Amino acid sequence: MLPKLQPLRDALATLFPVSCGGCGASDTRLCRECLDALGCAVDPGLDEFPDLELRVISAMPYVPELQTVLDSFKERGRADLAKELSSLLRISLRRIGTLVRTEDGSGVASTARSDEPLLLIPVPSTKLARARRGYDHIQLLLERAVPKSRPVAALRHARKVADQSRLDRQARVQNLHGAFAASPMVRGRRCVVVDDLLTTGATLAEATRALRAAGAIVIGAAVVARVERKYHTD
Ligand SMILES: [Zn+2]
Repeated sequence: MLPKLQPLRDALATLFPVSCGGCGASDTRLCRECLDALGCAVDPGLDEFPDLELRVISAMPYVPELQTVLDSFKERGRADLAKELSSLLRISLRRIGTLVRTEDGSGVASTARSDEPLLLIPVPSTKLARARRGYDHIQLLLERAVPKSRPVAALRHARKVADQSRLDRQARVQNLHGAFAASPMVRGRRCVVVDDLLTTGATLAEATRALRAAGAIVIGAAVVARVERKYHTD
């Protein structure tokens, strides 16, 4: 670099400090080590919850490197990390697309028209979270993951929900019942619910319940990562 440019670079670094969204290393938005750690952890999985009539495809377990990247994306204004996170979400969406085509072929699927595109429906952020972040993070991920499809904001919060961090899954399902409402435009359409994380499945189950109540045919859910027991805090 030309010596004259160094002060400019320093000034820019002060104004727009760049650091790794995973480990905080300076001068890079995502360092090679963190990127490799994410890449090595990719391991798509299918979780089924027969009691909730829900199946969820995830791209990888919720490893510590992903936790910090997702936290930077959601809580530290690092919207630029949508690039890598949306690539992970795309893995789950492709898998669910394959699953649907297989079922269509075997006649297992649904009565809906199989040539209609699946509706991709983000789990909505709360107004408060959206205002804090300046964006709806799942919507942003979806727009990046599938640029040609417009995510359908068919779900909305119908009421406030009590904090549920200390509740087990069954208690969470009960706590969330009626928390979402779905637009009537989903009636008869095949839908995939999209979120960042699968923890207990309660949020996805409530999203699915609301969509089904509005007449949607919910094929399943696609998430970036599943929180496995060893990464679980409760
Ligand atoms: Zn890093």
